[in-house]
Amino acid sequence: MTDTQVDLLVAGAELLATMDGERTEIPGGWVATTAGSVVAVGPPGSEPPARRLVRADDCLITPGLINTHHHIYQNLTRAFRPALGGNLFDWLRTLYPVWSRLDEEAAYVSAWIGMCELAMGGCTTSSDHLYVHPRGGGDLIAAEIAAARDVGLRFHATRGSMSLGEKYGGLPPDSVVQEDDEILADSERLVAQFHDRAPGAMVRVALAPCSPFSVTPELMQATAELAERLDVRLHTHLAEVLHEEAFCQAQHGCRPIEFFERVGWGTDRVWVAHCIHPNAEEIARLGAWGTGVAHCPSSNQLIGAGLAPVAELRAAGVPVGIGCDGSASTDCASLWLETRGALLLGRVRHGAQAMAARDALEMATLGGAVCLGRQGEIGVLEPGAAADLAAWRLSGIPFAGAHTDPVEAWLRCGPVSAWHTVVNGRLLVEDGSLTVPGVDEMLARHRAIAVEWANAAS
Ligand SMILES: [Zn+2]
Repeated sequence: MTDTQVDLLVAGAELLATMDGERTEIPGGWVATTAGSVVAVGPPGSEPPARRLVRADDCLITPGLINTHHHIYQNLTRAFRPALGGNLFDWLRTLYPVWSRLDEEAAYVSAWIGMCELAMGGCTTSSDHLYVHPRGGGDLIAAEIAAARDVGLRFHATRGSMSLGEKYGGLPPDSVVQEDDEILADSERLVAQFHDRAPGAMVRVALAPCSPFSVTPELMQATAELAERLDVRLHTHLAEVLHEEAFCQAQHGCRPIEFFERVGWGTDRVWVAHCIHPNAEEIARLGAWGTGVAHCPSSNQLIGAGLAPVAELRAAGVPVGIGCDGSASTDCASLWLETRGALLLGRVRHGAQAMAARDALEMATLGGAVCLGRQGEIGVLEPGAAADLAAWRLSGIPFAGAHTDPVEAWLRCGPVSAWHTVVNGRLLVEDGSLTVPGVDEMLARHRAIAVEWANAAS
């Protein structure tokens, strides 16, 4: 072991689950980081000297969890009473006019609060799919990126878009859709302005037309071509509800995944949200393409339109990550909760042998890294990887009696928030408390916007 002093040492864990190629687990393990990267991990007794030591007694240390699907601005309309009882399309039709009030202040404040919430749930990298760009709303993606930088979360912004308004048979009102040319030009601008290609990047940008029922085929195709030219990733919703199949058949004469392929999206540059309704042949095609899937367990349950066939997708070689979705279809943004949800739903769907806590952890870390195009860099704790980790304290009443398998205990017992969350070598959560200053003031700003929106809707 080196005698060089490291920046940060997180030591004394009950177990360190590295998620490296051998899935090495180290009882009593520690993680040392310098300049935003992991420099070493190891067993007790071999710790390097450190400028800062953080204890992880009674903790399971995992790589920071990765959120592969979210609509963070929706935390302004959580548990929104007028929209609670309908199906996905009813829910969207009720909320689109409310969301049409989105502006830079609302985008910044919702992202700031949402990213703090994610950090508290052990998430260190989040993507976000912002597809509502009301006329006159300003630069919403830049506002989100500013919030990510202020909070300190690693962030993959996706430039969402809707171009198929009601007047052309689409679902969203015409006030929140844009022209294809405007969307493509803004996508290119955002990539030039914010997309950092360097290893360890804190901000990246992907392109993300909303869904087959809210954009034109021309925009899907042009976006895929633009992503290829700019070498950035692609994201969208796919096969979320059966209504979508009827819509695709009526509009395009084929099923959603056939449409997806026709417009140039069947590639490993893409990860899609949900993917609840592919048939067996479509699952094989997704696997052959290497297209990733963001599995959103709470959203599957709350929307009530089916559960993603996760075991089949993984068996076909599809990279599957975890997403919290929402926050108005899930309302809660804890990656711990979603990872537990993936464990439970995997067993509901396929039986007790189908999913173990280590499978769910693998999706929330390694699977997410593949979805975001960052395998080997995030979602793993080994030398050279990003210094992103979560320490989960497995003690007290919820963990009494759980002494045989810390990884299973982590997802079966609880509920758990992160005891420490480290992003890029920086503690965002320490000893169970958020270190980011200004929460009360930001909550007041958040409340003012949310109440104004609710009043305007009633
Ligand atoms: Zn979504």
